[in-house]
Amino acid sequence: MHTVIVGGGIVGTAIAARLGSTDREVTLLERSEIGEATTAASAGLLMRTVVDPDPFELRFRERAHERYRELREDGLEADRIGIVYVAESAAFADRLADSARTLREAGIDASFLEPDELVGLGIEPGGLEGGLYTPEDRVCDPAAVATLFADRARSAGVDVRTGVSVTDVETHEEAVTAVGTSEGRLAADRVINATGPWAPQLDEAVGIELPLCHTRGPMLAVETSDPLEGPTAIFESKRYVRPTEAGAWLGAYRTDYTEGQRYDLADRSISASFRESARELEAFVPGLEGATVVDDWVGYRTVTPDGRPLVGETEIEGYLVAVGLSGQGITLAPAVADVVHGLLEDDVDPEYRSRLSPTRF
Ligand SMILES: Cc1cc2nc3c(=O)[nH]c(=O)nc-3n(C[C@H](O)[C@H](O)[C@H](O)COP(=O)(O)OP(=O)(O)OC[C@H]3O[C@@H](n4cnc5c(N)ncnc54)[C@H](O)[C@@H]3O)c2cc1C
Repeated sequence: MHTVIVGGGIVGTAIAARLGSTDREVTLLERSEIGEATTAASAGLLMRTVVDPDPFELRFRERAHERYRELREDGLEADRIGIVYVAESAAFADRLADSARTLREAGIDASFLEPDELVGLGIEPGGLEGGLYTPEDRVCDPAAVATLFADRARSAGVDVRTGVSVTDVETHEEAVTAVGTSEGRLAADRVINATGPWAPQLDEAVGIELPLCHTRGPMLAVETSDPLEGPTAIFESKRYVRPTEAGAWLGAYRTDYTEGQRYDLADRSISASFRESARELEAFVPGLEGATVVDDWVGYRTVTPDGRPLVGETEIEGYLVAVGLSGQGITLAPAVADVVHGLLEDDVDPEYRSRLSPTRF
């Protein structure tokens, strides 16, 4: 049995590390370098927080956090800096207060802060309605995590190849038989599509279309005169400030599903309106005053109609997907890998199978 994982971002590498090659041959093909695409473009937040959490989502995330806890014990660096979700309207503040209660009931350190309590987190409360604060959220270097997974996969016997592009997936009678690659044909019994925002292209090769859209994730890296002391702040208006050693990354947290929305993934331009709205954040985060932009980049999220990823078998025998991770792929990758492993071993919680099924819509 030969399994080919396509894509060496955090999702593909986490799956490769989890599968290993004990009783099956596993190959991971990445056309560029490990973790270089969406994974490297991300903010690297390992999120405990969530607005309007549902019990399944919390369980799925906790599974991922348990894996990250084990990796930290093995030396993975992930600083605990926390996240505060900030309400700019009274209605959103009510949702954050409810979310804080639900998170606490699930055993997560979470509290709702009144506007004047935001000052202690480096936020100027004028015009704000409060915040949901979860101090346990961490930040990591996501490309380094993908590299760690790839190293573990290699040690477990997986053939991890970079610089190899998958150009086709061959099928016979609705079942996978091989992949075509930039280095020739490779027979395969199973193909796992973990190509992030490029997923629709591979799906097309087997003749399926899944409900996935893109959202743009522009980011500005700024240097500040003094380090920002607070947690990552995510505003209701979808802008966020993620502290770094030299200053901060200013991003846009867009995760809404818009049917058919696809972007040119080579377009790395940052709009003037995003630069302007990021600049306005200094009204809420005074530590950003006088900050200088030193870098910028764009990543693309892949979003599903219900915000949950698509993980599992499709109608083509042997063709699985692990895509649609929205704004949570760094957080969830190890849990996705567990589910794929469980599916291949026929030992997966039925709720995971159905709630993440690519054919659920
Ligand atoms: C700006 C931004 C900020 C984010 N911040 C966070 C965050 O703080 N926390 C969080 O949990 N999530 C965050 N996310 C989401 C997270 O980054 C993604 O969900 C995650 O990186 C997806 O990983 P992936 O492995 O699926 O995709 P990718 O990292 O894009 O990996 C896919 C890989 O497939 C390869 N590939 C594509 N096609 C082929 C082919 N035909 N043959 C071979 N290889 C191929 C690509 O080269 C690429 O390396 C953010 C996303 C963005 C855009």
